[in-house]
Amino acid sequence: MAAHTDTQAPAADKAGRAYAERYDPKQIEAKWQARWEADKLYRAVIDPSRPKHYALTMLPYPSGDLHIGHWYAMTPSDARARWLRMRGFNVMFPMGFDAFGLPAENAAIQRNIHPATWTYANIDNMRKQMRSMGATWDWEREAVSADPAYYHWTQWFFNQLFKHGLAYKKMSAVDWCPKDNTTLAREQVVGEARLCERCHTPVIKKNLEQWFFRITNYADELLDFSAMDWPAPIQLAQTNWIGRSEGATVRFMSEQGDAMEVFTTRPDTLWGATFMVLAPEHPLVAKLTTPDRQAEVEAYVTTATRQTDIQREATDKDKTGVFTGAYAVNPVNQARIPIWTADYVLVTYGTGAIMAVPAHDQRDFDFAKRYGLDIRVVVQPEGADPQAELTAAWPHDGVLVNSGVLDGTPAGKGEGQSVKAAIAHLEQIGAGYTTVTFRLRDWLISRQRYWGAPIPIIYCPEHGQVPVPDDQLPVELPMDVEWKPTGESPLKLHPTWAQTTCPICGQPATRDTDTMDTFMCSSWYHLRYLSPQFNQAPGFDPQEYAYWMPVDSYTGGAEHATMHLIYTRFFHKALRDMGITQGKEPMLLVRNQGHILGPDGQRMSKSRGNVIDPDAQVAAFGADTVRAYLMFGYQWSEGGPWNTENIQGVVRWLHRVWTLGLPDASAADSRPHSAEAETAAAVGVAVAVRRAVHQAIKKASDDFEAFEFNTIVSTLMELTNALYKHRAALEGTPAWNNAVNTLLKLMAPITPHITEELWERRGQAYSIHQQAWPAYDSAAAAEDLVTIVVQVNGKVRDRIQIAAGAGEAEAKAAALGSATARRFMGGQEPSQVIYVPGRLINIVL
Ligand SMILES: [Zn+2]
Ligand SMILES: [Zn+2]
Repeated sequence: MAAHTDTQAPAADKAGRAYAERYDPKQIEAKWQARWEADKLYRAVIDPSRPKHYALTMLPYPSGDLHIGHWYAMTPSDARARWLRMRGFNVMFPMGFDAFGLPAENAAIQRNIHPATWTYANIDNMRKQMRSMGATWDWEREAVSADPAYYHWTQWFFNQLFKHGLAYKKMSAVDWCPKDNTTLAREQVVGEARLCERCHTPVIKKNLEQWFFRITNYADELLDFSAMDWPAPIQLAQTNWIGRSEGATVRFMSEQGDAMEVFTTRPDTLWGATFMVLAPEHPLVAKLTTPDRQAEVEAYVTTATRQTDIQREATDKDKTGVFTGAYAVNPVNQARIPIWTADYVLVTYGTGAIMAVPAHDQRDFDFAKRYGLDIRVVVQPEGADPQAELTAAWPHDGVLVNSGVLDGTPAGKGEGQSVKAAIAHLEQIGAGYTTVTFRLRDWLISRQRYWGAPIPIIYCPEHGQVPVPDDQLPVELPMDVEWKPTGESPLKLHPTWAQTTCPICGQPATRDTDTMDTFMCSSWYHLRYLSPQFNQAPGFDPQEYAYWMPVDSYTGGAEHATMHLIYTRFFHKALRDMGITQGKEPMLLVRNQGHILGPDGQRMSKSRGNVIDPDAQVAAFGADTVRAYLMFGYQWSEGGPWNTENIQGVVRWLHRVWTLGLPDASAADSRPHSAEAETAAAVGVAVAVRRAVHQAIKKASDDFEAFEFNTIVSTLMELTNALYKHRAALEGTPAWNNAVNTLLKLMAPITPHITEELWERRGQAYSIHQQAWPAYDSAAAAEDLVTIVVQVNGKVRDRIQIAAGAGEAEAKAAALGSATARRFMGGQEPSQVIYVPGRLINIVL
């Protein structure tokens, strides 16, 4: 990696003046970082006289070193926090470590180091790396989720959820990662292939007794995004994940008199239901099956229940099933319809029974064709032939046919349409009712792993599940454990840890030996930052809460859309209902960054050898260059490949700023501004420079507001070039000093060290980071206008105003756009357009 050496810094400018000193970030960056820290420049304290801004950026897993992706996420967030501070906000910008969980634990296992040793060593190193960034984190607010002082409150919150009926334990078929040897939440199982979110191993199902949080109680409320400014893709992902669907529950009766309920989002197609299907595990299958069908049905059920849900639901699999020999009655038209059992219906979803409408559902259509079952059309485009045979299911809108009282009703979910009409009919005949279902399931939080907060529950033979009393929290994680994953909870293997006494009766009892999902720790870390030393319930200082919350801006990865970002909303709402938090949402605004890829355009990985190490970049170029490059090189929300050439452009920029910003002692003496002509020219230049400065203030302010960081840097690069151009005419004047100082202030959030150094050298009062953000003057930014005469064939037809600095193309376009000129052109195309700069345009036809 080339260092920032000789070729990049001009030894002298055009006037031949030699510079005493080159820009050397090593000389200045560590110095300023130490000074800012000693002066507590970024300490955030309650101050009711100023507007507050809680700026939060997602905290890292300390599973290794800080990588360039962390820099990419955190640098613009830091720059924006700095910008807000300069604008007069009292900004809190805290940092911590999401220290429990699989990433750190797996890395520790690979190296055969105790997870605690490994995690805390990483935290130490990451702190050093983060300091090298020159960011404004208030380290007095640091929180580490693996510290007993932190998880004391994670456990306390668990007990609150338990006491309020929002945490419960139940036996169920749960997702299990065979590689990580633990259960996973449904949110941690990704994609159609159902892979573990961490290691991408296909998950399997296991029947286990596990703890769940009742997030489903909040399903409807979680769909309300009205109180927040979050990216549309995140809202959509959460909406789809929650998966609300409105429909009806319909009751079918078997001919033997057994009620079977089905849920359908299309009750209006009920007249087309020509058979029913029960899951093989459905309790009525054995009862309904007629003696002549018994052998075949039993064999089918045995085979089906040996398969996993994933195999059974695979879309490329042929749908199979067997007839039970029994019939049901369709409640709307009394049709006698056969009852089948088939493995594509799962007992774990809905009621474990479906009504099949082959004319309007492709899966049912395929099944009916395969087994020769009736297909009955009940929705058609208006005027279509009701006898025409279908070659595929018709899932589209139209009008109802063959549907008794509903014939002719337009198909759809709106008012006066078929779905509402069908539900009203069902309710009237007592065969069904409106039902809302959700795809969302309760959050499974038990983990059979070591590195997490122990679940603070004691099992007493007499009193059952007893939460550990508040005064006995935290339940500390023991260090002397065989912590490698075996499939059993490591805490279970400890000889004494689980043995305790019942808090109620004092009899021997045992502790829960599972640990909590680390997403539980991160659901409330923004509250711990409020007062990380606070040691009373609820784990944060209510005064700090009242001043700082809610979080005003939250930045981080979009991959957390249906995990952390949904859990933390649930957590806030659950705590609010207990009177612990306030308001609808914990985080008002969220913005996501993209990903930095290797120089080859691939995801960075050690095996590909394309990893960019931020420490090496800082050593080569300095933190300011790396910061500015990460903000300049990418549309932040998109990301892209690392580009070794583009960073050189940033290197050159900062060298130019350095030479521009260094005060030049000789300038005032050698270049007197006495001659009148020279002064007049300088006044014109000063106006132009002031205009460029104010245009840059406007652009930088707007773009900071909008999280558009790359265009801020390019604007400041252009301003630097403009100043360079006018340096000879203006240097030494108050206008010049004002322009350079303003450039430094605009750059300060992005490149905090070089600007602080130049600020000091220019004799300005410490610190540049405590200066007000430059005020924008729209009059100063406005372009001067000149009046141009527009001729058509040599005759004056119009006068238009254009910017004084406009180029030839712009001037011609403006003239040809003149309505008056166009009238005189009579629809003809010009054969020639002549431009006399600043004066006239002649359109020749
Ligand atoms: Zn896994
Ligand atoms: Zn007891």
